[in-house]
Amino acid sequence: MTEILLKTDREKSLLRKHPWVFSGAIESINGSPQAGDTVKVLSSRREFLAWAAYSPVSQIRARVWTFDEKEVVDAAFFERRIAAALETRAAFGFLPLSAGLNEATRLIHAESDRLPGLVVDRYGDTLVMQVLSAGADAWKMTFVEILQRLTGCATVYERSDADVREFEGLPSVSGVLAGEVPAELVIAENGIRFKVDVVGGHKTGFYLDQRFNRQRVGELARGKDVLNCFCYTGGFSLYAAKNGAKSVLSLDSSEESLRIAKVNEELNGLSGDTMEWREADVFTALRKFRDERRSFDMIILDPPKFAATTAQVERASRAYKDINLLAFKLLRPGGILATFSCSGGIDAGLFQKIVAGAALDANVEAQITEHLSQSADHPVSIHFPEGTYLKGLIVLKK
Ligand code: SAH
Repeated sequence: MTEILLKTDREKSLLRKHPWVFSGAIESINGSPQAGDTVKVLSSRREFLAWAAYSPVSQIRARVWTFDEKEVVDAAFFERRIAAALETRAAFGFLPLSAGLNEATRLIHAESDRLPGLVVDRYGDTLVMQVLSAGADAWKMTFVEILQRLTGCATVYERSDADVREFEGLPSVSGVLAGEVPAELVIAENGIRFKVDVVGGHKTGFYLDQRFNRQRVGELARGKDVLNCFCYTGGFSLYAAKNGAKSVLSLDSSEESLRIAKVNEELNGLSGDTMEWREADVFTALRKFRDERRSFDMIILDPPKFAATTAQVERASRAYKDINLLAFKLLRPGGILATFSCSGGIDAGLFQKIVAGAALDANVEAQITEHLSQSADHPVSIHFPEGTYLKGLIVLKK
């Protein structure tokens, strides 16, 4: 059996149930494990620490499946873990799906559901899976079989085309693993209808993590002139319009996302002159609006991940500051900024500092009225703070 022996005093994070074993913590490897093999992790005193999945090229050399020495990592083990994840969604009202109201949810949130590297989203009866680690990759078809059985969904589509696969030495792959993807997939979220492109859309097709925030920001949009930056397929824009915003201008650089956004506008019977979609680079557009002295009552900033790793934090911080500063300038007094960051490398404290710096440089007075995070179907394991990635602030400009 393959064993990983840690260096002296490098067992501390595992004793605190953090699921990652970094390459630098490893003293020696006994055996020659292949990518994805289950290995036994031992302290320098040879005490059992965990069963983990081996990843030969990643800095995260192993990810823990279980801290229980007696537990066997097999199909039955994964069935228990997947069932537990589904129970969590049921306990918090995400399952069963509610026809016409909420027809999509994240079923499995990787490390936070004690299934490192596995993400599964459900859109109606279609499951979309992201396999992001060597360990999860080795068990892929086992996951498919269990997911089909426990959810009753026949279709499983793989979207393992995320950049992080590279760190694991895994190729980018996507395609049908089981069943057939419906030609037209439309889901309701809080009663608002969205077309979801699981094949060509971002991530698994839709940003489910913003569900609670879209609801809240929508409520605040009544009667306002809204600017939604980085609108993707129109999430926040449709909520704002549905909630009685006076006007909604939405910006995104992706022509395809805007095409779907317009389909979504129609799906919700919103066609009219309240909503305007514009293909634009947000950094440029905000400067142009500033020069034209345009103003808004509400600005939403939900940019893509600017910092994927901690090495990119400084550059990302400047980009966040830039757009937030411009937004403060474009807001009318009494206007609301709904600003987000999904960069794991930037924690909530730093994000708040960046937004504060932007307000200072824009020379505006402001109050934070709400702190927002990812929706509850994206839980965070108490032992894995890295699971928190989405941060949002509602800020009132005085
Ligand atoms: N708020 C959206 C999700 C936003 S995802 C929702 O609720 O669904 C980020 C979006 O930013 C993507 O659609 C991407 O196409 C867009 N984007 C990335 N860089 C951009 C840029 N410089 N200017 C405009 N849009 C950009």
